Amino acid sequence: MQESGDTITIGDVKVAPGEIKHIKLKISESFFTSPIVMPVSVINGLGDGPRLLLSAATHGDEVNGVGIVRELIYSINHTNFNGMLICVPVMNITGFLNHTRYLPDGRDLNRNFPGRADGNPAQRIAHTIFTEVVSKCDFALDFHTAGDGRANMIQVRADMRDSNVKRIAKAFGSEIIIDSEGLPGTLRRSAAQSGIPTITIEAGEPHKFERKVVKQCLQGIMNVIYELGMMKGTICEPRFQVVVKKTEWVRADRGGILEMKTYPRSLEKEGNELCVITNPFGVEVGIVRAPFTGMVVGVTTRPVASPGSPICHMVKIDKTLYKVEQAIRKKAEEVEKVHGLTELLQEIKSEDDIAEIELQLQKVAAMLIAEREEAEKEAKKKEMNKVETQKLAEEKMDKESKPEKESKKVAEEKMDKESKPEKESKKVAEE
Ligand SMILES: [Zn+2]
Repeated sequence: MQESGDTITIGDVKVAPGEIKHIKLKISESFFTSPIVMPVSVINGLGDGPRLLLSAATHGDEVNGVGIVRELIYSINHTNFNGMLICVPVMNITGFLNHTRYLPDGRDLNRNFPGRADGNPAQRIAHTIFTEVVSKCDFALDFHTAGDGRANMIQVRADMRDSNVKRIAKAFGSEIIIDSEGLPGTLRRSAAQSGIPTITIEAGEPHKFERKVVKQCLQGIMNVIYELGMMKGTICEPRFQVVVKKTEWVRADRGGILEMKTYPRSLEKEGNELCVITNPFGVEVGIVRAPFTGMVVGVTTRPVASPGSPICHMVKIDKTLYKVEQAIRKKAEEVEKVHGLTELLQEIKSEDDIAEIELQLQKVAAMLIAEREEAEKEAKKKEMNKVETQKLAEEKMDKESKPEKESKKVAEEKMDKESKPEKESKKVAEE
């Protein structure tokens, strides 16, 4: 493990312990020979600890990770921070600008790591990123989403044979961990082969910032930060955690228009309806059913299918089924107990419904807070008026009773004068 007591250099920028620097690292050149730069933010703690890389948008259209890493950069409290965070919110700059997964030459950056200094454009970019950033880190979290036309529940992909990979994969806290080595050329596999334990987080849909996903992944990052001892804090455990090796795409056997009956993160029993396929006149032509009991980790978001189109990405849950069911039930009961949301819960059919309900609750909460603030302001005003009136009344009373007080004072002074010689003599006696 490298220690952060020393300074890290990325490009030609040095970042000393206790410093935060935002670096523009040149990774390529435009047709106009101007540099194409990649943003790298380094948050260097004062204490010794590992260097943790947080990277996103290696596929330029998978932007949830951009929201996650960006938010972490400006929200993390780095006082008493051990080690270093190296944050790259956008790896594939041109893909991000053009809303596409690929580089301008049509290549996939995440199939070209660790790259080559004298290779094709994708290999050269990958090489710069790998040598200047990735190879200088001790651990890495690489954020992705589902591909175009699909949505994923939050899931970790990790090579669980490596104990350090396993450690951060479990700590991140997703309910599903898919145990795999990763495809050749991916950042995850290349970094792991170079001795940098790395996991991929698949979260949500491409082309959008999903608030709920961003929030959950930020908690996941904090979990890893706590696990690695970079900050003190308690890891937030998931409802359950299942490690699977195999996943399966359930496919349509008919062409038609899709009416989805399931959603990411739904537990489906064998034989459950996942999707109804109709023709353009609304006549049912087929039903896609769950081939086994398991969790839906991804779904298509396209409304049209041909025979063979992937509909649902599922993982089998057998041995842990009872545990998973219990955990889901317990969580639902907790929510119901805390918020009394029985009716609202019955309305939930999809992740979108949950987001919608959350939004409604946020609005209600904002309204209640505004009402409370208004009431407090009003009460304060009343209190001030009361004090003012009381003060005026007292002043009035004071004025009226002054002559009496004056005479009392004079009388007291007189008495004082008369008794002074006695007091004086007492003082002398004491000394
Ligand atoms: Zn991706």
